[in-house]
Amino acid sequence: GTVYLNGHFMPLAEARVPVLDRGFLFGDGVYEVIPAYDRKPLRLHAHLDRLERSLAGIRLANPLSRADWEGIFAHLLRSHEAANQALYLQVTRGAPDGRDHRFPENTSPTVFVMTKALAPRNPRIAEQGVSAVLCEDTRWQRCDIKSISLVAAVLLRQEAADQGAEEALLVRDGRVVEGSTSNLFVIRDRYVTTPPTGPELLSGITRDLIIELAGRERLPLTEQPVSVEDCRSADELWICSSTRELVPVTRLDGEPVGDGRVGPLWQQLDAAYQACKAELGQS
Ligand code: PMP
Repeated sequence: GTVYLNGHFMPLAEARVPVLDRGFLFGDGVYEVIPAYDRKPLRLHAHLDRLERSLAGIRLANPLSRADWEGIFAHLLRSHEAANQALYLQVTRGAPDGRDHRFPENTSPTVFVMTKALAPRNPRIAEQGVSAVLCEDTRWQRCDIKSISLVAAVLLRQEAADQGAEEALLVRDGRVVEGSTSNLFVIRDRYVTTPPTGPELLSGITRDLIIELAGRERLPLTEQPVSVEDCRSADELWICSSTRELVPVTRLDGEPVGDGRVGPLWQQLDAAYQACKAELGQS
């Protein structure tokens, strides 16, 4: 497929980054993943706003204007055969001529964008849900920055996979903050709760959309801290992200969540989410 690297479109196989790139040496960069349905990005501005915050968080200027970003996305979305895609962009602090933790004097960032087909959801997810495990959150204290330094998340997600689970739900100071690659919702007595945003979790674009849709569906929802006990005694648990959408979690640490079946509120909000995607296609 075609990718964008530092001002040029080229085949993926031709895209090369120097070994001294600070993304490679230090994980010194940030990224975004933007879903597109019928080649139209969902919540594009929210993603570009978050990119701006992530860049500010690592003290790197945005190398491109919004119009530039949008032009690159449009070009890549058109060049790919799939109608539904996931755009991936990454900005690093570039490749100075040596390895020094301190910022280079003249930063020339590396900008990379690619797209791939967004696979349709496995029907088993809506029928049976997925399993999750609780893990101690070993990440840093700025999880609100969408940093490419992902080794802690890699280890946690693999820990979940090793236990046969789809996601690791992360516990910090007794509070369940989010998944290793997703945000968390807990439902009890028809009441929806999600942990409040802050440095300990990524402010998910899908999370914001679910909050909005819950409002439209007149479901009571609060943003407040969630305990391990809240998760264990929940009627329903959901995780969400741009690429997975809204996913019901029906087993936690091997035990059923609620009655162990996909819940009615998940059905309701997933329907609202799917309708939102369909509207984008018609716009
Ligand atoms: N939290 C973490 C740690 C994530 O990696 C992701 C997925 N990028 C999310 C939450 C969900 O964010 P979004 O809905 O913007 O994809």
